[in-house]
Amino acid sequence: MELTVLGKYGPYGKAGGGCSSGYIVKNGDDFIVLDMGCGTLSRLMSEVDITKIKHIYISHLHYDHTSDLLVFRYLLEELSHTVNIYTHREDSSWYNILFNHPNFNVINIDENTVINIGSMELGFLPMKHTVTNYAIIIKGDKTLCYTGDTLFNDNVLKCFEESDLVLADCSKPRGFHGPHMNIEDAIRLSKQYPETKIIATHQSADYNPKDDLAGTGIISAEEKTTYTI
Ligand SMILES: [Zn+2]
Repeated sequence: MELTVLGKYGPYGKAGGGCSSGYIVKNGDDFIVLDMGCGTLSRLMSEVDITKIKHIYISHLHYDHTSDLLVFRYLLEELSHTVNIYTHREDSSWYNILFNHPNFNVINIDENTVINIGSMELGFLPMKHTVTNYAIIIKGDKTLCYTGDTLFNDNVLKCFEESDLVLADCSKPRGFHGPHMNIEDAIRLSKQYPETKIIATHQSADYNPKDDLAGTGIISAEEKTTYTI
């Protein structure tokens, strides 16, 4: 199983080319795109043949995870290509604006949903953010969990118990209080689950956690990088 980081920043990108949240998880010939924040579409176009994209997961509806879905629709129209979008159901005008499009086949998920796509099995766990956000657990040759955006909560522990690697929203500086985990959460989790790898993502444009995570074993996500799990 492989994880490619298209964009790692939130809630906006970084001067000089940093993009907000977007990832590809590949297992054998199957792959799924996780979130499509600003700038991620052009990187996605460099990584994969767009007509081969069948599955996209959207963790929550904040702009830094969804904005490129809007321009993606122009490309899908041009290519006459339709993709499956997996996300939770929400009764909001933004949900309708984002997903109501003939080239999007929306499949709603919740914590009871299990989806099999080729060699991968997808499951979902509710997290704790300012809006509804589900983590996705992808089982293939290995198991990867992507938390989306979240504070620490008990379901984060389930992600760690089940996974070989957790791509976690845990890159805010020490002492940060907001709707995301910080590096203290990351370090505590890495000690509690030494067998589980952590890639720390959702980084702020003005703070790179790399130096503070040195020696902890936690990987600071790098854009345009592929990690083998
Ligand atoms: Zn975010």
